[in-house]
Amino acid sequence: MARVGIYGGSFNPPHVGHSLAAREMTDRLGLDRLLIVPAAVPPHKALPDGSPGAADRLELCRLAFADVPKAEVSDLELRREGPSYTIDTLRALRQSMPDDELFLMMGTDMLLSFDLWREPEEIARLATLAVVRREESEAVWDEVRRKAASLSRTLPARIVLVENRCVQVSSTTVRRLLALGAPLALEPAVERMILERGWYLSGCDLKNLPFDRLSEISLSLHDEKRRPHVLGTSQTARALALRWGADPDLAARAGILHDITKALGPSEQLHICRKYDMVLTELQRDNPKLLHAKTGAAVARAVFGECEAVCEAIYWHTTGKANMSLLEKIIYIADYMEPNRSFPGVEILRSLVETDLDAAVFEGLDQSVRLLRKQGRIVDPDSLSAWRCYHPNKDREEQKA
Ligand code: FE
Ligand code: FE
Repeated sequence: MARVGIYGGSFNPPHVGHSLAAREMTDRLGLDRLLIVPAAVPPHKALPDGSPGAADRLELCRLAFADVPKAEVSDLELRREGPSYTIDTLRALRQSMPDDELFLMMGTDMLLSFDLWREPEEIARLATLAVVRREESEAVWDEVRRKAASLSRTLPARIVLVENRCVQVSSTTVRRLLALGAPLALEPAVERMILERGWYLSGCDLKNLPFDRLSEISLSLHDEKRRPHVLGTSQTARALALRWGADPDLAARAGILHDITKALGPSEQLHICRKYDMVLTELQRDNPKLLHAKTGAAVARAVFGECEAVCEAIYWHTTGKANMSLLEKIIYIADYMEPNRSFPGVEILRSLVETDLDAAVFEGLDQSVRLLRKQGRIVDPDSLSAWRCYHPNKDREEQKA
């Protein structure tokens, strides 16, 4: 009787997090075989644009898992018509391996929603559930333990919680970085094939795109919940440019790109900085969360080929600085008061911006400096010099300084 692991997923694309999980699973459960089963059409999600087709994802998996001992890539789900359900796959495998012990590999989120799956009792009868840890907190892992205990009684199910090593990376992040020209966390052969075929926008020339296409691509690189803010900033920037005599098209482009790297985590921010040879201050290095304006500007220049005026406006949109250009002021303030923003004081900004742009910029700076101080956080030196520069009693402030 062999111990056989089953590792399904969309693998779009397969990355080093997947191959490490496969190795860990094989070692810790003492598996004789590990079947990697890419899904043809995942039941719960449509694949994003620019994704390779099923046969190509199968090939990517063969490359990604080539060096993982005991792993074999299976085309079982790809040969079947219609959506892939785990229960159908398990039944087919059970038929071909009637005497083997099957381990179905799943993430913690999948165990927590296991009741919602198709035929959970039957899945649990056919296989042991092996729950693999990502970087969840202890609190989540406790919830998983409770869920496992309850499912063991009610279904009943055999459940193993695997205390594995893991790397914090997702296919979504990997796709974003490919589009932004900074591939990360891929096995070399997988990366080569993706770049050769130009999947996930990696092979597209994204320079000087017409606004509609630029907007479409920018929105596709954001999390769902940030999209209204990005659109709102772009539209507000265009309107302010018309009101104050800046170029409305440049304002709209800077607005749509201003948060282009915002969905990336701290280590990916630093990865973009290395990729585009950016020099960082100590404050920036220690606070990668503040970096998205800087990395956004680098990407706007290198990937989207935007002009310097647009890149500079993106660069300064979080901190501001002394003596901003008209476009820089517009992006700073549009980001602050676009229609989706709601915080005490936003209405003051919205009315000021109609009559006195510099006063609105000062109001924004003043509010954020106060907030940072209240929270005990460091205020960026560029924000402080901007605050002094736009202070209504500037001359008196300068004498004090
Ligand atoms: Fe931002
Ligand atoms: Fe923003």
